[in-house]
Amino acid sequence: MIEKMKKNKLLVLIIFIYVGLLIVNQEKAILSFKNSSYYIKEMLIIMPVVFLLTSLIEAWVPRGMIMKALGEQSGMKGAFISLGLGSISAGPIYAAFPVCKALLKKGASVFNIIIILSSWAVIKIPMLANEAKFLSPKFMMTRWILTTIGIIGMGYIISKIVKKDDIPLDTIQLEKDEVVIQQEICIGCGICVKEAPDYFKMENKKAIVTIEKVKKEDKEIVKVAKEKCPVHAIDIG
Ligand code: SF4
Repeated sequence: MIEKMKKNKLLVLIIFIYVGLLIVNQEKAILSFKNSSYYIKEMLIIMPVVFLLTSLIEAWVPRGMIMKALGEQSGMKGAFISLGLGSISAGPIYAAFPVCKALLKKGASVFNIIIILSSWAVIKIPMLANEAKFLSPKFMMTRWILTTIGIIGMGYIISKIVKKDDIPLDTIQLEKDEVVIQQEICIGCGICVKEAPDYFKMENKKAIVTIEKVKKEDKEIVKVAKEKCPVHAIDIG
């Protein structure tokens, strides 16, 4: 029981707050319970669709396609695609997080993910249509232009601060100094072989690892090979 409570600290805290509120102010407790029930019901309707969408992205969308459209090298084209994806999306912003995680796992850059999330949150097309109706088209257009500039600038700044390695992407757990190549990502460019020929070699147009544990004196060259891999296929423990 104690173990279960420790694992679900947040849930326990919320229950305590509800119980406390119920003792202090019954009316407010009932109101907040009703609000929470509404959001839980909404999540139960939306999340299965979101999980289906993320599974489809993970299983069916080729990594190369995501990398080309939304990867590190996609430049302003990637930024425009991200703006488009975020703007045509539907559903609340919390639904965007699992989708963005699936895209990150498939090779999208942090920069483009910030743009998708931000445009999903503040410049969705249905939102813009309502804004124009209630506050005038001029108001909507001015806000859209300035917000878009802000989103791109924010994406640039955040991508300099937050790296992909900072985001838990459920990738494989490696032993200390173990080096692996994700074969499904490798595009066979041969850069790693040039940088660290003792550790990598080409086989059937893909790079493979020849020494699985990086020696202390070779850490730097293997790290450089990892950093130069254009598709981030190399992982070091
Ligand atoms: S640098 Fe990356 S993509 Fe190129 S061969 Fe090595 S692992 Fe594959």
